Amino acid sequence: MADGLCFTFQAFSRPFLQLTSYTMASEPQKPLRVAIVGAGIGGLMLCAGLQHMDKEKKLDIQVYEAAPALAEIGAGINLWLRSWEILRAIDLEETFVKMMDEAPTDEPRLVFQLRKSDQREGVHISDIKMKGGTMRFHRAELQMALMDRVNTNGCVKLDRRLTGYNEYENHVELEFQDGSTVNCDILVAADGIRSSIRKQFCKGIAKGDFVICTDPVWSGTFAYRGLLSHDDIEKAFPGHRAKTNPVIYCGKYKHLVVYPLSNGRFTNVVAFCTDPELEGVEWTEVPPMSANQDELRAQYVGWEDEVQALINCIQKPTKWAINNLNPLERYASHRVFLAGDAAHAMTPHQGAGAGQAIEDAYILASLLTNQEATRKNIPKIAEVYNAIRCPAANKILLASRDQGKWCELDHPRLKGVCEGDMVSKEKLDGLFKDISQAWDWVWKTSAECDRKRALDMLSTPHRAEESCVFM
Ligand SMILES: Cc1cc2nc3c(=O)[nH]c(=O)nc-3n(C[C@H](O)[C@H](O)[C@H](O)COP(=O)(O)OP(=O)(O)OC[C@H]3O[C@@H](n4cnc5c(N)ncnc54)[C@H](O)[C@@H]3O)c2cc1C
Repeated sequence: MADGLCFTFQAFSRPFLQLTSYTMASEPQKPLRVAIVGAGIGGLMLCAGLQHMDKEKKLDIQVYEAAPALAEIGAGINLWLRSWEILRAIDLEETFVKMMDEAPTDEPRLVFQLRKSDQREGVHISDIKMKGGTMRFHRAELQMALMDRVNTNGCVKLDRRLTGYNEYENHVELEFQDGSTVNCDILVAADGIRSSIRKQFCKGIAKGDFVICTDPVWSGTFAYRGLLSHDDIEKAFPGHRAKTNPVIYCGKYKHLVVYPLSNGRFTNVVAFCTDPELEGVEWTEVPPMSANQDELRAQYVGWEDEVQALINCIQKPTKWAINNLNPLERYASHRVFLAGDAAHAMTPHQGAGAGQAIEDAYILASLLTNQEATRKNIPKIAEVYNAIRCPAANKILLASRDQGKWCELDHPRLKGVCEGDMVSKEKLDGLFKDISQAWDWVWKTSAECDRKRALDMLSTPHRAEESCVFM
């Protein structure tokens, strides 16, 4: 219920210093109430980060999840060294190592073999290797492990669907489908690509009549997903490389990403098929959609045998429209923060969506548990979060679009190439170089630098405003 003046988002166009003048007479003893909406990887990671960093117990953290139980469809998820450093920093390393084939080291490791496969005899293009390699998880296992870790005090409330919020001078009021309301000091929307909070947030920060398009757009790509047992693969194609090696099978407007996970028990297969004419149109059907094996097989006729063997093993493919957001100008305003897919849902081609949710969580948890974090400073924290996270995550969102195209031979170096065409080694080497370099950021840079910059901005007067560079 309202305990102050209703705050309107018109303040967005005002400079930051004016925002701070809304602050109330603070109550330093009362914990800051942080409400996280959504218990996906983003919401649970933020909860874990806050719990770990809040040494003085200055926060009251609650997570509200719409689903009555956490049940994510079984599929793989990929994390990189950059995310691993964060997991280590918030003491999640042990939890994650249990779910992995191998713990990461500083040694260069094979990340993917790259093949051109839309022809009878596939061609090995090159091997992508990186320091630390990549860490692959079964998504449901990962989510459950995070849930076990954070929910020891019952802070995750299931079956609580948020329907809207009202922002006031001193607090945010959350409204739930069951008719209940809850007040908090900070609302973090980790409610995924179809975020309802994002819609309300963007309407609120719209300038005049200009309303930013906040709905996800379709990339023109469908993904068929399957989790295969190694026994099935062995029967279909003895000695198949996909049981032990991660592979990207490339072809015109189609590609497959394949890797072993769950300590070698399964191989995850994601088969992408694109119609470039349809990129950017709206797609509202909620995944997964129904699909059958024949539909999937028909897409890969004429591809090399080892691809067809994998496709034949996917008895019941799930089919997903691959949507993404157009980059948002800001992820936070005053007391409301967007995180994970709610802020920057991206195509999966850089394997970075969950990793970016983890980075949001790390930066936000670091800011909210800093000694400078007071009720008065919440709007400044929002500006610092914008300054650090918007340029970084939006850049990866766009890089991910490019990466998907390049893996489907839709690249300036390969103009005019059709499905099944032979392509010179020189051109394929150039393609490999671009794909490989687009991933440099995942192992050559560190989230720690961003964290330090964020904390520096928070402690320096006016820094956030000056440093806020949007795309
Ligand atoms: C095919 C595919 C492959 C991918 N592979 C990778 C990969 O290898 N590596 C990687 O990093 N990323 C990958 N991603 C992206 C990654 O899955 C997402 O970026 C990540 O899961 C986003 O997490 P999130 O917590 O922000 O959102 P979600 O996981 O979508 O969680 C949102 C949660 O909010 C809840 N919710 C929604 N609305 C409400 C409401 N109104 N009230 C309360 N709760 C609500 C939902 O029930 C859900 O639990 C892939 C995505 C796809 C589609």
